[in-house]
Amino acid sequence: MEYFNLKHPHERVDFGTAARRGLGSDQGLYYPASLPSMHAATLLAAPRLVRYRALLEPFVSPSISVATLEDIIAAAFTFEAPVVEVGDSFALELFHGPTLAFKDFGARFMAHCLSHLKDEHPMTILTATSGDTGAAVASAFHGQPGIRVVVLYPEGRISIAQERLFSTLGGNVEALAVRGSFDDCQALVKGAFDDPTLVGPLGLNSANSINVARLAAQVLYFWDLCANLHARGIPEETLLSSLVVSVPSGNFGDLTAGLMAKAMGAPISRFIAATNVNDTVPRYIETGSWDPRPTVPTASNAMDVSKPSNWPRAARLLSDYGWTIEARSIHEDETVDAIRALDALGYVSEPHAAVAYAALIQSLRPEEVGAFLCTAHPAKFASSVEAALGKSLPIPPAIAASIDKPNLSVAMEAEAASFRSYLLGTQ
Ligand SMILES: *Cc1c(COP(=O)(O)O)cnc(C)c1O
Repeated sequence: MEYFNLKHPHERVDFGTAARRGLGSDQGLYYPASLPSMHAATLLAAPRLVRYRALLEPFVSPSISVATLEDIIAAAFTFEAPVVEVGDSFALELFHGPTLAFKDFGARFMAHCLSHLKDEHPMTILTATSGDTGAAVASAFHGQPGIRVVVLYPEGRISIAQERLFSTLGGNVEALAVRGSFDDCQALVKGAFDDPTLVGPLGLNSANSINVARLAAQVLYFWDLCANLHARGIPEETLLSSLVVSVPSGNFGDLTAGLMAKAMGAPISRFIAATNVNDTVPRYIETGSWDPRPTVPTASNAMDVSKPSNWPRAARLLSDYGWTIEARSIHEDETVDAIRALDALGYVSEPHAAVAYAALIQSLRPEEVGAFLCTAHPAKFASSVEAALGKSLPIPPAIAASIDKPNLSVAMEAEAASFRSYLLGTQ
């Protein structure tokens, strides 16, 4: 598949280049030149990893051979995406990977692709995190030869569980506790990419959520959802005419991948983009004006985004295929109500999934089949969940295993000069 730069459509690259570069010139997003239509009936019936190979091959060809792709799939997707019946709807659980959030899908696939695509030069992955991305990226690259990973995070502003998932890894993963905010961390990373004495010599690459490899991997679980519902006896035509998928959205990568899955033939009727009170997209869809406001902190903090960087891709898909989506903004008290409503149905959830569930229940029509994405394990957001439900949650093994290990992170001032000497090892 070829990818073109949405800002400069004549700029066309293959998968390997798009994945290694991340962004095109002028920070333009790479976009698939054409998405193949797949034979849905065959894919729904296929075993999971066979379906994954069929779906991913067009994205990575010819940069990655089929044999290598099979190795990558086996190494990256070592966990399931189960579907659980909750009341009258279905929960797609995307948090069974090593760092307990759906970011594991994209980060692990990207990491294994990059380790195959890299040449003999060094590669340094820089990533700034406000919580989940850092852990997913660090865990995905941990132990990959020739790749150095540097994770920057705001000291004291992420939960201990989130921090320990990457700060205890060691080896090729370095954690920098920056004395500042998430925005300071992002500014340090951006500054490093503007410094030619770092970019070339260190082989800088940013493993952020706009990488095409991450998007390709996220297409897979929308198909898993359809295959699971199909195996429960819901015919393909019924899914196509009535399956509604509610996607908890921040940077809109997940929703973009869902639209790509539908474009490739996944039998999904429509999507709901569910946001918290950071509602740039719902307001845009209602009024037609793009008017980001200052970001407001919420319980679903991975969706505290007011300038969603994947939106141009989602908008392009909607216009290419003539689709519309419904977008809903869910308030904090509605989120708490949804956590309680889910608990009353016997399902312990967390704020991001609760936002998706609340939007689904508000929008679903009686003849439709509803599904919502559960993007994080409840234990990652234990304090909000425990506050909403008045009971404590068990700690899952992945968090228990890292919480008592030594924290290897290095403290650093939020200064470009300190970061530069750190990276060059001249501190
Ligand atoms: C990143 C994230 C989201 C939002 O996904 P986008 O692709 O950025 O829209 C939702 N929930 C959780 C738990 C996340 O980590």
